[in-house]
Amino acid sequence: MSSKPLNIFTQHSRHWRDNRYVYPVVSRRSKGLSIGINLNPDKVCNFDCIYCCVDRRSMPGRVEVNLDDLRGELESMLATVAGGSLWKEPPFDQTPEELRRLNDIAFSGDGEPTSYQKFEEVCQLAARSLEQPALKGVKLVVITNATLLHQARVQSALIFLDAHNGELWAKLDAGTESYYQLVERTAVPFQRVLDNILAAGRLRPIVIQSLFMNIHGQPPPPPEVEAYLARLSHLHSQGCRIKLVQIYTTARNTTEAYVTPLGLSQLQQIAAGVKQLGLAVDTYAGVA
Ligand code: SF4
Repeated sequence: MSSKPLNIFTQHSRHWRDNRYVYPVVSRRSKGLSIGINLNPDKVCNFDCIYCCVDRRSMPGRVEVNLDDLRGELESMLATVAGGSLWKEPPFDQTPEELRRLNDIAFSGDGEPTSYQKFEEVCQLAARSLEQPALKGVKLVVITNATLLHQARVQSALIFLDAHNGELWAKLDAGTESYYQLVERTAVPFQRVLDNILAAGRLRPIVIQSLFMNIHGQPPPPPEVEAYLARLSHLHSQGCRIKLVQIYTTARNTTEAYVTPLGLSQLQQIAAGVKQLGLAVDTYAGVA
């Protein structure tokens, strides 16, 4: 893997044309094109991650998601991809040939997607948009901080997604409560996240996404990495089906200037520890 990311991988703008919700992203983690759906245009999140790339210096206030507009944007985006015109416009014209494939529709965006009260409705809407032979195999990915997975309405949505090629990518960036608080700055206890990941992973195979960084120039301390690996090991031993662990670092602007990307060799060291647990792992340097 090159430590110099291609330009296309660092361009993860959530704004495309005049769209309010739907945006295209070429992502190494998706190994192709991911169509993002931003369910948090108000930028509200129950985490305040020090590495978050969402600029919250200005907050738009309460913004309702208009599902009719969202559906229109999604259908238009799928047509743009199917017709090939997306690959003709910058920066997508830089996309390597092997990545010019639609991998997924991802619920992500400027906050925690499962906090959207009509989350299941929007999952159904996205699944319907994929009901055509040419889109068979396109996944519905939920990129989540796992804080709300215990809520019945979210669990119901996940069960729907299980039957519609869904995939859960759950964030786990720490091994200890103190490091978790240092990084995520939230009122949600770490144990809640761990319990939710375990419960979700017992019901379906899940992906764990773990971002590591330098904080004030310091990599995660070795005891923290050990604690993180112990959490993964515990989840695994308790029946959490982890199909992949993604180890990556920051690629874009971060909320706090004292956050900088972790080097490839350090990422690989953490990944080696994950591999020793018998888990599949992918490492991504400086790309999202
Ligand atoms: S959970 Fe995601 S959106 Fe929320 S603060 Fe963290 S990185 Fe940003």
